[in-house]
Amino acid sequence: MSQKCRQHIFGERCTANNIAPCCLCGQPIHRHNDQWTIEHLIALGLLGPDLNRNCAPAHEACRRQKDKIDVARIAKAKRQAEAGMPRNMRHTYSPQGMAIMTTPETKKPARGFQAPAGVKYDWRQRRYVKASRLSRPEPA
Ligand SMILES: [Zn+2]
Repeated sequence: MSQKCRQHIFGERCTANNIAPCCLCGQPIHRHNDQWTIEHLIALGLLGPDLNRNCAPAHEACRRQKDKIDVARIAKAKRQAEAGMPRNMRHTYSPQGMAIMTTPETKKPARGFQAPAGVKYDWRQRRYVKASRLSRPEPA
């Protein structure tokens, strides 16, 4: 962030001559006497937009304190996203090691093979024969 941008945001937030409230502690910041920085109101790691309206001046000391808390919040958000996954999606892998999702409705492939058209199984010969040659039971 450029110095000009910093000063512009500070100017936008000024409530008195060269004084703006700290967005973290609420105490006034003196533009020329205090150490201050521009703080994202919503941390970028928590998907806060990098826009001026998401920025406000804060004391340098306050920002350092907040950064510690943000790191913890981002880590917690990640943990919650992981825990929210359905149980059957976790620890389920294909034989190739790819993570897959199993569902009870998974259709199994048909077993055996389909006899070609015009061919039938002859139980007497115990093999497939052309339907026209299918042996008839001998008349008794
Ligand atoms: Zn402060």
